[in-house]
Amino acid sequence: MLIPRLIERKRDGGALTADEWAGLVRSYVAGDVPDYQMSALLMAVFFRGLDTSELGALTDAMLASGDRLRFDGWATPRVDKHSTGGVGDKTSLLIAPIVAAAGVAVPMMSGRGLGHTGGTLDKLESIPGFRTDLPLRRAEEQVRRLGAALIGQTPEIAPADKRLYALRDVTATVESIPLIAASIMSKKLAEGLDALVLDVKTGSGAFLPEPARALELARTMIALGEERGCTVVALLTAMDRPLGHALGNALEVQEAIAGLEGRGPADLMEVTTALAGEMLVAAGVVPSMDAARATVRQTVESGAALEKLRQVIEAQGGDPRVVDDDSLLPRAPVIRALPAPCAGVVTQVEPRAIGRAIVALGGGRRTVEDEVDPAVGFVVPVKPGQRVERGEVLGTVHARSDAAADEALATLATAIQVGTSAAQLALVSHRVSSVGTEEMAA
Ligand code: URA
Repeated sequence: MLIPRLIERKRDGGALTADEWAGLVRSYVAGDVPDYQMSALLMAVFFRGLDTSELGALTDAMLASGDRLRFDGWATPRVDKHSTGGVGDKTSLLIAPIVAAAGVAVPMMSGRGLGHTGGTLDKLESIPGFRTDLPLRRAEEQVRRLGAALIGQTPEIAPADKRLYALRDVTATVESIPLIAASIMSKKLAEGLDALVLDVKTGSGAFLPEPARALELARTMIALGEERGCTVVALLTAMDRPLGHALGNALEVQEAIAGLEGRGPADLMEVTTALAGEMLVAAGVVPSMDAARATVRQTVESGAALEKLRQVIEAQGGDPRVVDDDSLLPRAPVIRALPAPCAGVVTQVEPRAIGRAIVALGGGRRTVEDEVDPAVGFVVPVKPGQRVERGEVLGTVHARSDAAADEALATLATAIQVGTSAAQLALVSHRVSSVGTEEMAA
């Protein structure tokens, strides 16, 4: 296989065969194809795209580069949820225990913060002692015993994706629909799932802000999964403002626990219920979304979901007492408020700027080596369209130092605007499945 000929063919708009993709990925993981050649090929894919059979072949090759979770002979349905990333999106922390408490297994493999977006693993690791690096066999055992495990991508899962993702990150080839779809689905298909629910974000804080591109990504991932025996459903959800109020790792864990106690912000609970409900329907344990909503409510009201979270925290080495006592979570020493400069209507709460400010506070990474400060972030209780009075608190910053708090407050003051009227995306705008696309809200 002459790599320059493959690059040349892709560059000129041709296609690689399934055998060529398989050989290329195998050779790359073995170290026989250098990063500079793979970078050139990725850029050719970025501009030329992949046809359906190439996309399938690349995904299969990435999946085959590693191991997978195995649940052979186990009848319990297994479902996961994947979000394309946002600010304040802590739904995984609620969904895994809710769905597991309803009798469906959730082998959830999550990621770390990426760019301005937060990551479930970083949030979980703000719980003292919590380990996300479980070996696959131990994660399988925990899923069979408790119904859920919340883990990171181990070196055993799709190692080709790990290397390719790192390369894409530094070669400006992340924002490619086929490359994103292959990357996400190669990992999800390694979880041994019966079904997958995708939360595809749209709006200024999403990686693909335009709804049309988000829909294309959803349809691409659905086709990939369905062709490989995994039912896939996607919801398009709004990321033109943060989700919930708490933004930053430990603050988000605290808000997720409040949600499982029935005290979560309305938008967070709506998206959580929609996604968890789709998972229950896809697993076949309830006949309809109405029944699914009732089941979600029941797992929260009965305390079963909170108890499930406590069990998962304990099983993964974390301090389960955080569920009852949030003072055990890391706290920032400096907390300062931003008052509204005038009375009016909140016209924007810009998620991308706030996400970047969390990174600047130390709550995310600028380089892969950076340590994350779990305590820092924001609490923003206001939403676009909400009326506020002059001096009312628009948000608070939780910082390590006065200087960091000053800088973060200045960013927050431009991210949150007060004016006369606000327009915003519907919280859950579309449902996409193999059958077609349904508009959920005007
Ligand atoms: N998340 C992934 O896992 N891969 C991508 O390419 C983008 C987001």
